[in-house]
Amino acid sequence: MASQAYDSDPITLLKSLLATIENEVIPLTSKGVSSGNKLFGAAILSKAGLVPLTVSTNNETASPLLHGEINCIQQFFAQTSFPDPSDASKPRSPQRPNPRDCVFLATHEPCSLCLSGITWSGFDNFFYLFTYEDSRDLFSIPYDIEILREVFRVPAVPVSGAEKEEMDGEDIDARPLYNRRNKFFTARSFEDLAREIAEKHGEGESGKWEEEIRRIKELYNELSDTYQKSKTSGVDSASFWK
Ligand SMILES: [Zn+2]
Repeated sequence: MASQAYDSDPITLLKSLLATIENEVIPLTSKGVSSGNKLFGAAILSKAGLVPLTVSTNNETASPLLHGEINCIQQFFAQTSFPDPSDASKPRSPQRPNPRDCVFLATHEPCSLCLSGITWSGFDNFFYLFTYEDSRDLFSIPYDIEILREVFRVPAVPVSGAEKEEMDGEDIDARPLYNRRNKFFTARSFEDLAREIAEKHGEGESGKWEEEIRRIKELYNELSDTYQKSKTSGVDSASFWK
């Protein structure tokens, strides 16, 4: 439905996603990192009005499976009261929106566990602020990339001589780590949205939004410092990969 806020304009979408991170996810994350949890957060919004329905962060001090996204999905399905999908000022309702009518937001590009969780729950999209490379280089968390490479990347076995020759020339490292557009979901980074804004509204407009993305990213510097300190001070966590 083109009438939904979700696909009306990339500016409307990016603005809502950034506001959800700044006003809803970061305050929760701030509490989470001070008790030794990673800084990954997630939110589920309605496509109709881009209203935040559920917001969550990582809780792996309790269980290594409670990544921000998984925690958010669990909460979405346990929750008994939801804002009106079109207008947050209207009364709440016990009616849980269909995942197909929702936007999935992850602060960091989802790991293999969360990619599967999002897929199995029926969400047909997700958006992320930081990439895997950011998680590795800015936050010293390399496991998203390492697990996808080590667990899932099976070398192809050629069945004919011609195929073998073709594969010998293939650079396995050049392959994407997962399909960002597939039968189940479409994944887009905030940078992708900024590029869509450039196409639709020009470079001047997209430059403003690039700047806004940078500002929100910088809010994570302090959260990262707090998490790294908790790692070195040996905070008790159920997480094996810290
Ligand atoms: Zn994850």
